[in-house]
Amino acid sequence: MEPANTQKCHNCNHTLHGRTDKKFCNDYCRNTYHNKSKRSENNHIRNTKAILMQNRRILAEMLGDKSSCTAYWAELVAKGFHFDFITQIHSTKQGSVTHFCYEYGYKIINESSISICKMKGDKMPGSPYPNPADIPGKTR
Ligand SMILES: [Zn+2]
Repeated sequence: MEPANTQKCHNCNHTLHGRTDKKFCNDYCRNTYHNKSKRSENNHIRNTKAILMQNRRILAEMLGDKSSCTAYWAELVAKGFHFDFITQIHSTKQGSVTHFCYEYGYKIINESSISICKMKGDKMPGSPYPNPADIPGKTR
């Protein structure tokens, strides 16, 4: 006698019958399960994008039409800024690092202040990471 299948459907949690490697009752449960996991993936992307757009809006509002300005960390936090959500990092050879949210960026001045700036034109900042071709010991 075959061992009883004690697996439960990943979607509806009903006990499965038949083959022991089954994960779903039927196509309906399989599709529903995959759509749900796709939805949670989309939620993550949408939530991240919303935070980045909010950061961008806060920087844009604070900068106005100035080319750069200084602000307090606390001001940005009060407006709902998330310092850890950025789209790019740009660092110069002199060690100055700018964190970007799209075309708006901020640079840390000290423990209470930052400076805000905007990318010039459509030019993307250079990468802080070495060109892969310059890394010694690369695999061939
Ligand atoms: Zn099911």
